[in-house]
Parts: sequence; C-alpha cells; structure tokens
Amino acid sequence: MSSTSTVPNDFRDKVVLVTGAGSGIGREAARSFAARGALVYCADINDRGLAETQSLITKASGKVQIAHTDVSVEEEVSSLLSRIDKEAGRLDVAFNNAGITGGAHRIEEYPMDDFDKVLRVNLKSVFLCMKYELPLLKRGGGGAICNTASVAAITGPGGMCAYAASKHAVLGLTRVAAMENAAHKVRVNALVPGWTDTPMVRAESAQNPAFAKHGLSAIPAKRGGQPSEVAAAAVWLCSSEASYVMGQMIVVDGGMTIGGFEFE
Ligand code: NAD
Repeated sequence: MSSTSTVPNDFRDKVVLVTGAGSGIGREAARSFAARGALVYCADINDRGLAETQSLITKASGKVQIAHTDVSVEEEVSSLLSRIDKEAGRLDVAFNNAGITGGAHRIEEYPMDDFDKVLRVNLKSVFLCMKYELPLLKRGGGGAICNTASVAAITGPGGMCAYAASKHAVLGLTRVAAMENAAHKVRVNALVPGWTDTPMVRAESAQNPAFAKHGLSAIPAKRGGQPSEVAAAAVWLCSSEASYVMGQMIVVDGGMTIGGFEFE
C-alpha cells in the first residue's frame, strides 16, 4: 500500500470506498475502516441503509460520505469515482462488496432476466468498480482492493446457478486484476464469506427454508457468522499487514468448506 504509516491496520489519512455499505458485511467493514481512521465513502442503492451507516460512523466520531450508486451501471460508478477524486483527491482502498442472491430455481427453470441481473450486480459491478478505481489507486502510488465472492464461488449450491457463476467469476477477475496490478503496488484479493447473519441471508432463508436448514447444518462452528467477523478479514486484506498477499482469497465460513467430517 501507499502507506505512510507503519502501524498495522492503521488507515489514518486513507480514503476507502465500500460498496454495499448500507447493510450487512459492507456496513461493518465501513465502520471498521472508519474506526481505524479512514475517510470512508459508502455506496449503495439503499438510501435508508446508507443513512444508518453514516449515523453509526458519525456517532463513533468517524469520517464518512455516502453516495447513492447502482454499481451495475457504468455511468454511476464512473461519477462516484470522479466525485471521490474531486473531493478527496485520492483513493487508497476499495472493498467491492455489493451483491444480491437472486431467486432459487433449477437451471432449466431459472428466469433469464434474473440470471442477467445477478450477473450484472455481482460480476459486472466488480469489473466496473475496478475499471474506475485502478487509475486512482495507481496514481496515488498503490493501494488495495478486496472483492467479495462467496463460498458459492468454490462450491455448487443447488438452485443458485446465477449466484454461483457470478461469484466463481469474481475470483477469476480478482486473480487477473492481481496479476495485472502487482507491479503497480495495487494488491487485489477476495473475501469468501460463508453463511453470515445479514438481511440478505435472512430474506433468503424466509423464502427458501431448505437454504436455512441445509446451509446451517453444514457449518462445523454450529452457527452463522456475524457480519463484523467476516468484515474483519476484508479490512485485514486491505491493511499494510497483508502487504505480501496478492490474488488470494480468505474463506471465513465457520469451517463450512472444510469438506471432512467430525471424528466420533
Ligand atoms: P446485504 O443484503 O446485507 O448487503 C448487500 C448490500 O448491497 C445492500 O445494502 C444492497 O442494497 C446493496 N446492493 C445490492 N445491489 C446493489 C447495487 N446494484 N448497487 C449498489 N448496492 C447494491 O448482504 P450481505 O450479506 O452483507 O452481502 C454482502 C456481500 O457478501 C454480497 O456480495 C454477498 O453476495 C456476499 N456474501 C454474503 C453471504 C452471507 O451469508 N450473508 C455469504 C457469502 C457472500
């Protein structure tokens, strides 16, 4: 990173962008970056959620700006990054985290429009964000990007073809971006959350009880993760402590993808 500080996990004087910051993992990451001294730009389409995140950070004496941005639309991503450049004059870290699950259907029945939407919001958005973030990061001498994938990027959850395909592709994009930018001192990595107790998962479980039953029973930790436990890995990946970590993923899933079985 272009860090002037030698204190690990210190984001003082850093400008950080978090997408999907109006809820769940993104909100907790935004709070954590702000608590470590960063000026955090929070982007989301959920204005109410953004206002809540802003209020939480402000109450904790953190520095925050909010931006209504649909990260699947190129003009909106481009104007967000222009705004950050104009106002803050730099960007040091980006957590590209906004995402949706889409409905649960077998491949033969998966609605085409839903498939396109999930790919747009989960995959195209990460491409667009990096496209407009990278020039700013490089101009500042380097930085870090973390893209949110999912355990669905390394497994095959039935009923979630669009989600799994989009998240597998996020890992591919992450590795290409890491390769292309390592020499420019921009590190790019991925966060791979497992079952995390956020509004997204609560909505999915209400619609699809099998999702809750099978998902939770597959976790060795016997519980879902808290958004703050998952966000912590993204913050670490973007910190100076992770200065030699590039093109990797950190799986934070309570052991869900260990793939073994317990000894009795
Ligand atoms: P969440 O629903 O609490 O938060 C996601 C946020 O993204 C919401 O505030 C939503 O408004 C925003 N968003 C959706 N579409 C957007 C768009 N087009 N532009 C801008 N913002 C948009 O969910 P979460 O669980 O915190 O999810 C965060 C990320 O973590 C997602 O990428 C998700 O796929 C991933 N993830 C979550 C889990 C989990 O169990 N919760 C597991 C694996 C991966």
